[in-house]
Amino acid sequence: MKKIQPDIPRSECIRCGTCCKKGGPCFHHEDYIMIEKGIILLKHLYTIRKGEMAYENVRGGLVPVPSDIIKIKGRKDSWACMFFDEKENNCTIYENRPLECRVLKCWDTREIEQIYTENRLTRKDILSDIEGLWGLIQDHQSRCDYEKIGYLVKGLDGDKKNDAFENLLEIIQYDAHIRSLIVEKSGTDPQIMDFLLGRPLTETIKMFGVKVEKQGEHFSIRLNRI
Ligand code: SF4
Ligand code: SF4
Repeated sequence: MKKIQPDIPRSECIRCGTCCKKGGPCFHHEDYIMIEKGIILLKHLYTIRKGEMAYENVRGGLVPVPSDIIKIKGRKDSWACMFFDEKENNCTIYENRPLECRVLKCWDTREIEQIYTENRLTRKDILSDIEGLWGLIQDHQSRCDYEKIGYLVKGLDGDKKNDAFENLLEIIQYDAHIRSLIVEKSGTDPQIMDFLLGRPLTETIKMFGVKVEKQGEHFSIRLNRI
């Protein structure tokens, strides 16, 4: 949820765009219709996978998310929602904006606080009928489980650090490999991979203090805090 307190007291939306610049909304069941109608495409979305650390605005701080969170992607160069037109300072899908955008009142956040964690849309709601693909996503979720990754990262400092390095590297390689394989074998648009499998581990693993480098086909990892 975007926590925004206006600088000056107000009682109505002046469409200043401040909330849109802080990032896109999370999706709820009420928003599924926009995907069905093709107003919002899967390539506009990304998934924060179960167990991934995300900022919790209500309690504050980074916390692992309890289930998928599907969000509208940001712009390439900023956190701003990709549907926010910076030049015109407006939402390009205003008439069809998602639930969170409709209920957000920066001067009174009670309504959005009530719905924020309710009825969140997950990949299962959208993809579980697609048999082969859904099986593959479940397999990826299990092999690239963030709880397991966190455990292995802790082990990078321990007695069995070589095993931990090896296992972690294997997971990162698998994640990268399965993404290219899906694109290559099924012709899937690479732009929807962040929705199908969440963001690549090479990026998200930074939140555990681990840096990944790629040279050719090979990855190396190191702890940022070393
Ligand atoms: S709800 Fe968003 S667009 Fe409306 S006044 Fe508040 S920050 Fe600006
Ligand atoms: S969908 Fe529209 S209203 Fe919602 S955050 Fe994006 S630009 Fe703003």
